[in-house]
Amino acid sequence: MTASDWRKILKQLETKPEIKRKFLKHCKPKERKIGIAVRKCERCGRYGAHISSYGLNLCRHCFREIAVDIGFKKYS
Ligand SMILES: [Zn+2]
Repeated sequence: MTASDWRKILKQLETKPEIKRKFLKHCKPKERKIGIAVRKCERCGRYGAHISSYGLNLCRHCFREIAVDIGFKKYS
């Protein structure tokens, strides 16, 4: 699937109710309890390289951008 969030597709399909019904029946992603798709970056929505320590729930890219602002200090 090319969309970063599959719910965006529902917005596109609002004008096509029959196709929307078929999408929900056949193409909707599974609800998952474990795995990489459960954890998502709160800032940008990426799935990979997730940092959940200290309750951050960010990807590494967003963490690098805002680390100094939220009080992390680089020692090296
Ligand atoms: Zn991110």
